[in-house]
Amino acid sequence: MLIDAHCHLDRYEENLTYALEQITQHRIFTISNSMDLPSYKQNVKIAATSDLILPLFGIHPWNASEYVGCLEDLDWAISESPMIGEIGLDYYFVNETSRYDDQRKVFEHFLKAVRRQRKIIIVHTKGAESEALQLLKKYNTERVVIHWYSGPWHILKAMVEHGFYFTIGVEVLISQHIQDIAAYLPAELMLTETDNPGGKESLTGTIGTPLLIKDVIGKLAEIRGTSDQIIMTTVQNNLIRLGDNDPWLTRAQASTG
Ligand SMILES: [Zn+2]
Repeated sequence: MLIDAHCHLDRYEENLTYALEQITQHRIFTISNSMDLPSYKQNVKIAATSDLILPLFGIHPWNASEYVGCLEDLDWAISESPMIGEIGLDYYFVNETSRYDDQRKVFEHFLKAVRRQRKIIIVHTKGAESEALQLLKKYNTERVVIHWYSGPWHILKAMVEHGFYFTIGVEVLISQHIQDIAAYLPAELMLTETDNPGGKESLTGTIGTPLLIKDVIGKLAEIRGTSDQIIMTTVQNNLIRLGDNDPWLTRAQASTG
């Protein structure tokens, strides 16, 4: 089964019907991340139409300042969500350093809840890899998926030592740094993503569709000197292992198993 461990189905808007058809036709298990409360509500609605879609709640670091004053208002959604994503820090695309404190507060609010609820989290670390790792260690976060890692090697190595998983996505098609990371990662920590529809759009100007996951798999196979089928099976087994015995994920395991 194809696994898209990080995308944003709510953002397809008028292309959603087409995207859902592809997901169904090609049986792509899809983890749909949220950026804020409205996108979470939208993702829950979309996921109700398909067993292949898992909707997650998260506040993206770009939106942290909007929510930092009302963190308790997020707790129902944190409790309800089977995993958490997308959360984290971004010191690269966010230039105003005055907003970094808001990002840290929101991220830490989630990490505290995750420690209590023992949930898997999907983390954005762009330009803030070192501090993200520090906070994940501070809260003893056990099951972590690092989304679209593109940072320095020494932090990557430390994250691998912690047993964090990594979603490799569309930038592997064009970036030597990401290709080097994809070649280096232990097979058992590797997952695949599209970050659709915006991930490809940010690189090429046109939106990605769910089948883009096959391009990512093909490139991973080429880089790692193996077959598409082996990458697909490895990623599926990794996701199953990551979610093993997780009561929050009964539904996801039923779909992938
Ligand atoms: Zn994303």
